[in-house]
Amino acid sequence: MTAASLPNDPPHDAATRLAAIRSAITRIASLSSRSAADVTLIAVSKTHGASEIAPLIAAGQRVFGENRVQEAQDKWPALREAVPEISLHLVGQLQSNKAADAVALFDVIHSLDRSSLLTALAKAMDKVGRQVPCFVQVNIGAETQKGGCPIGEVPSLLEQARMIEVPISGLMCVPPADVEAAPYFALLAKMAREEGLTGLSMGMSGDYETAIMLGATHVRVGTALFGDRPKA
Ligand SMILES: *Cc1c(COP(=O)(O)O)cnc(C)c1O
Repeated sequence: MTAASLPNDPPHDAATRLAAIRSAITRIASLSSRSAADVTLIAVSKTHGASEIAPLIAAGQRVFGENRVQEAQDKWPALREAVPEISLHLVGQLQSNKAADAVALFDVIHSLDRSSLLTALAKAMDKVGRQVPCFVQVNIGAETQKGGCPIGEVPSLLEQARMIEVPISGLMCVPPADVEAAPYFALLAKMAREEGLTGLSMGMSGDYETAIMLGATHVRVGTALFGDRPKA
């Protein structure tokens, strides 16, 4: 494992990468006096096909993330038929007109960020007869080009969710690129605490260890598991 996890020499085999990330999660969790069982590793498989996903399933991975409803609809029904206990998480922006499709397919939605989407999701959950837990995505760096609920509007969105009984698991963020993520993770953790929420979806390939130290309960890891995505 030592040679295989040297920087710039990522192991090619998906099962080896998975084992390396799982052991990192265990090490960081124990360093933070947390249990590794309290950290869910979401394997973000967007852009990757069934032939790349299957080895991870074979290696025991059960939780996967996708960022597009259509792509997930194309890929996952077949994979799930073989392994029914797979849990599928939506980690990308969601249009209200896709809410019903998302509710039918996904087990958790990480991108609830506005009132109109909340209303659409509530309607879809009623119609499909399925309660899908959601994370409220917070625009933690106040970036104009990025999705996520503005920090100041999070309490009212959460209040609205409670009123229409959409289950909220916690808060999610994607911090600004190319700067230290830790302060943003700490801020998200503080907001969750103040709202009495326990779920924290934060940390990606480059910073999931930092995120776990700051309380992440869900890390969303793509590249470190699958290798680079094809450039769009
Ligand atoms: C793609 C994506 C990830 C995974 O990113 P990596 O850097 O490849 O680990 C995590 N979260 C979201 C919201 C994403 O879109």
